[in-house]
Amino acid sequence: MQDSSEKHIHRDDLTVHIFPDALRSNIETLRGLCADNTKFCAVVKANAYGHGAREVVSCLVKERVDFFAVASFYQAIHIDSLVGDIPILIFAPLNTHTGAEEILCCADKGYHSTISNLDAAKYIAQILAQANKKLNLHVNVNTGMGRAAISADQAGELVEFIDSCPVLNLAGVFTHFATSDEEDMSFAYSQLDIFNKFLAQNNLINRNDVIIHAANSGATIKMPEAHFDMVRCGIAMYGYFDDANIELIPAVRVEAPIVSIHSVDKGQNISYGKTFTTQRPTKKAVIFYGYADGYLRSNSNISSVKINGEFAPVIGRVCMDQIVVDITDIAQVEVGDMATIIDNDHNSLASVKSLAKNNNTITYEILTSISQQAHRELKVSDTFKYRSANAHP
Ligand SMILES: *Cc1c(COP(=O)(O)O)cnc(C)c1O
Repeated sequence: MQDSSEKHIHRDDLTVHIFPDALRSNIETLRGLCADNTKFCAVVKANAYGHGAREVVSCLVKERVDFFAVASFYQAIHIDSLVGDIPILIFAPLNTHTGAEEILCCADKGYHSTISNLDAAKYIAQILAQANKKLNLHVNVNTGMGRAAISADQAGELVEFIDSCPVLNLAGVFTHFATSDEEDMSFAYSQLDIFNKFLAQNNLINRNDVIIHAANSGATIKMPEAHFDMVRCGIAMYGYFDDANIELIPAVRVEAPIVSIHSVDKGQNISYGKTFTTQRPTKKAVIFYGYADGYLRSNSNISSVKINGEFAPVIGRVCMDQIVVDITDIAQVEVGDMATIIDNDHNSLASVKSLAKNNNTITYEILTSISQQAHRELKVSDTFKYRSANAHP
């Protein structure tokens, strides 16, 4: 039970089950696509793609993981006490507005920070020199992603500056693919070409003090030429990436309680906006989970949840913290039973993939929308009983 003074609300009645066995299996599958000495960077940004960063990291430190990657300094601090000797790479580029305290903390903790600008490098070097500290940097080279990276033309000068600066350690050089999850890989290969030319021009290929990396999940699976010294996997590690050649296992299941059950006549309106009217005498259940918990409102009248192994369609609009489902055809549903909102089964109507499809979005957004309030629980094997022990006080 949470302490009332805690900063965030924690819901004991809402459970995110994390499956360490699935994470382990996916890592082994992905590593199996790489050469033996290729490092594996586990991307745990955005609360480990919604799963729960600290819970996921506590599983991953037992696996063959060489690096963790996060989006921001704050996310690095959040997992810091759990990572042991495994280094953390921060994707957000250091810049001329990054605070001195943050820069010095990164140096003290041995974090690896991303850099994509010469002025930023000079500014950081000055702060580090004053404190006599050294920082690990990875230069992010733009080869076509067109986000925060430095152009391949200008990156050489940045690499030279870092190499010439005693307080800066060139620990890595990387790029990021924009389309490696698409069927047509031609743009990804043109990015790889630009990256290879950049590496050759700056004599980086044979430097064993610099980690060269490029591959996200898509490139790890489909572009062995892009593995270099390390792959950075997010979505595939969590069990999602459509590729006929590999089997990935979903690592999360989200369950929420049924809080009310009513039988109503034909012709009853359900929820806001009267978008659904019962077409038959209907038994309906209310589940305490809504768009504020990450169940997108566009699931209204489209998606299904799983109850007792059967699928119950969402009827009417998804509310802020409740949804109504039709359980007329499902036997023996009781208040207190848990409904599976997100299923750890690729073939389920409540799978992450079907939710992404129903909501016209990508699996990443479904996952990162999972409620932060939910209680996280590690499940060694998939033998969860649908009726939770404390459902009937
Ligand atoms: C998020 C991210 C990844 C991981 O991408 P996936 O498609 O989830 O594998 C890798 N590299 C960078 C720079 C990222 O921002």
